[in-house]
Amino acid sequence: MEPTSAETKAEPKSEKGGDKSGDPYRTPAPAPKSIVTLRGIFKTFWRGKEPVRVLQNLDLDVPEGSFEALMGPSGSGKSTLLNLIAGLDRPTEGTLEVNGANIGTMSDNNLAKWRSRTVGFIFQAYNLMPVLTAAQNVELPLLLTKLNSADRKKRVEIALRVVGLENRADHYPKQLSGGQEQRVAIARAIVNDPTIIVADEPTGDLDRASADEILTLLEKLNKEFKKTIFMVTHDPAAADRATVKRRLDKGALI
Ligand code: ADP
Ligand code: MG
Repeated sequence: MEPTSAETKAEPKSEKGGDKSGDPYRTPAPAPKSIVTLRGIFKTFWRGKEPVRVLQNLDLDVPEGSFEALMGPSGSGKSTLLNLIAGLDRPTEGTLEVNGANIGTMSDNNLAKWRSRTVGFIFQAYNLMPVLTAAQNVELPLLLTKLNSADRKKRVEIALRVVGLENRADHYPKQLSGGQEQRVAIARAIVNDPTIIVADEPTGDLDRASADEILTLLEKLNKEFKKTIFMVTHDPAAADRATVKRRLDKGALI
């Protein structure tokens, strides 16, 4: 039998991984890559001539595949931060890389295209169009794509099935409960198969039971569908479902 050399075996292997030899000394798998990287972010709004300094020198790394909850007092800048990550607003200063794109410097046009491919949005107030059915609401983001009507219909069916509302496709928002409306909004958020889902107080208007259903659905999107989720919430029970909890206070993450 050949003598084994522990020294040789302990040598670090290449960073690329993929070592199938079963060598127990191989370097561990690399940490998941950061899908959101913020460096030195400042955001200042102006109230007349008065600056409102909302975010100050903020750094943030969100690993791919995490489900993050952001808490903090009202007015601390949680929605402002979420809007920056989602490409709905731009920083006053600092760099912002999301899903490999430097979105702080993109043109408005490119940013809109990037957003429609990359980000799914869920808001507290659902924001469904009252004159459209559930299925038509879910289809809206697809009208910006090149998909034909049959393919859009298929995608809408799948998204409504994921949220358990396939039998409510033809209902109008006013015929649905708050929890069902939010599930339609979630179907609309995932119909484009986004990489990241941002949710701003998604359970803020719901009773406990409906809120728990929504949170279970978000957990499923994270675990089964591998979506990275960034959720702003006041609700400690909601934050407990997340894999990472963060707190924003006085413009800084603590
Ligand atoms: P949170 O979501 O934590 O409650 P926000 O991010 O909505 O806080 O707001 C943080 C601060 O920024 C608040 O003082 C708010 O008034 C101010 N702010 C937010 N958006 C704007 C805006 N578009 N113009 C001026 N001030 C704003
Ligand atoms: Mg807010």
